[in-house]
Amino acid sequence: MVATGHPETAAERYEAVIGIEVHCQLRTASKMFCGCSTAYDGAPPNTYVCPVCLGLPGALPTINRQAVEYVLTTGAAIEASAPAATRWDRKNYFYPDLPKGYQISQYDLPLASLGRLTFDTSDGPFTVAITRAHLEEDTAKLVHATDANGRKVSLVDFNRSGTPLMEVVTEPDIRTAEQARRYAEELQLLLRSIGVSDADMERGQLRVEANVSLRPTGTEPFGTRVDVKNMNSFRALERAIAFEIERQAVILDAGEPLLQETRGWSEERGETYRMRVKETSDDYRDFPEPDLPPLHLDPAWIAEIRARLPELPESRRTRYEASLGLSAYDAAVLVADPAATALFEDTLAADPALLAKPVANWVIVEYLRIRNATTEPVTIIPAELGAIVGAVEAHSISRAQGREVLDAHVITGAPARAIIEERGFRQISDTSELESAVDAALEANPAAVADYRAGKAQAVGFIVGQVMKATRGQANAALVQSTVRERLSEQAPKDG
Ligand code: ADP
Ligand code: MG
Ligand code: ZN
Repeated sequence: MVATGHPETAAERYEAVIGIEVHCQLRTASKMFCGCSTAYDGAPPNTYVCPVCLGLPGALPTINRQAVEYVLTTGAAIEASAPAATRWDRKNYFYPDLPKGYQISQYDLPLASLGRLTFDTSDGPFTVAITRAHLEEDTAKLVHATDANGRKVSLVDFNRSGTPLMEVVTEPDIRTAEQARRYAEELQLLLRSIGVSDADMERGQLRVEANVSLRPTGTEPFGTRVDVKNMNSFRALERAIAFEIERQAVILDAGEPLLQETRGWSEERGETYRMRVKETSDDYRDFPEPDLPPLHLDPAWIAEIRARLPELPESRRTRYEASLGLSAYDAAVLVADPAATALFEDTLAADPALLAKPVANWVIVEYLRIRNATTEPVTIIPAELGAIVGAVEAHSISRAQGREVLDAHVITGAPARAIIEERGFRQISDTSELESAVDAALEANPAAVADYRAGKAQAVGFIVGQVMKATRGQANAALVQSTVRERLSEQAPKDG
């Protein structure tokens, strides 16, 4: 008997079910429940601390209003609903980075419920339902080091302890590693656009965990899930999920049971590894925080937060495509980069006569080229970029010259007009001026003309090159090309 129709890989016999949990540090000036500053990055250990964030007995927390507002802002941006009132809960567990023995969090009354986020994937637009976003406090940080005697020691730095942390949890709606990566990228972009977090993954401001399970393709019930953490980049997130899908498929194929556990991602080995067998939520014994009152949310405050939202990435992309006529690709690239978005918008605003497409092009190709080539901050005055784009579009300077003007503007800050004049840039589009340059080149290069007559079409390119050289690159290349062809056909041999 011949087996037919079997899918190629184990993973293809299963469908992945993925839910993402993101922890994100909010960009408040002070910590969640005390007045300590959050600007501890790079500071000596244990210098941004007080009795509250050290977890000393008897210290009393007070609520950071800005942190609450940031979660409500996020909720508004993902179209979630806010409760009329919420409260704080203690999530109890022991760990050296949590000296209180509990974390103040929100258990069943999150500040935001039932939202969603839409983004593009290689298979088209995709929407993920977001279960909740709630507020909690970050833990201290353990530093594993070697002391002066060569002994391994674990040290605790409390600077991070008590930093406001928002947790955003999705429904298990995600089906592929790519969708998971795109979700996390879009959430980062959203958090940055609304200004609630710097959301830098490398600096631990955005920590992404993936819950992954498999079910036989075509079936409903969810399988046992594995929680994967320690991914330090979007690429790592995608790789870790892809690895986990393969790993689970092999186990399920072998008829073995999967364990509900927490696994870490090893970037060097390119694989996940067991960290601990999963605790269930019962283990935390959440109960209402007795030191903080319930929090009533004034509907007027929530309405005001909603009204203050800036244009969000998804609607900006839609507007760029629908009203400005940009391609989906151009819109995505511009919107993914806040500095590029600002330069694009401000340049268009500086000169209403400019068309969106060429401005988008200059920002995407030239601005991003300049910025990605340096670690220095790049400043471009929007009106000057507008002047350059306008001059190139009007054919008064060539594109190559425009690029040079922009580079010079970035270095000196000088106005585009001044650079163009100083360098004598102009583009010769005047027909009679071009024609005489072409005629001169034809006369000076009889051999090339003969080659053309002998059927060597490349000779045109050589002559165009001679004209460009003679005009120091100022001739309109497209016009030179057509003039050369015209002249050569006019001079077609009468004797041949
Ligand atoms: P916990 O606190 O135990 O991590 P949460 O409910 O906060 O549980 O988060 C669980 C995450 O796992 C959510 O994103 C949810 O969508 C996802 N999830 C739940 N069940 C499954 C499953 N069977 N497979 C994959 N993901 C799941
Ligand atoms: Mg969780
Ligand atoms: Zn403190």
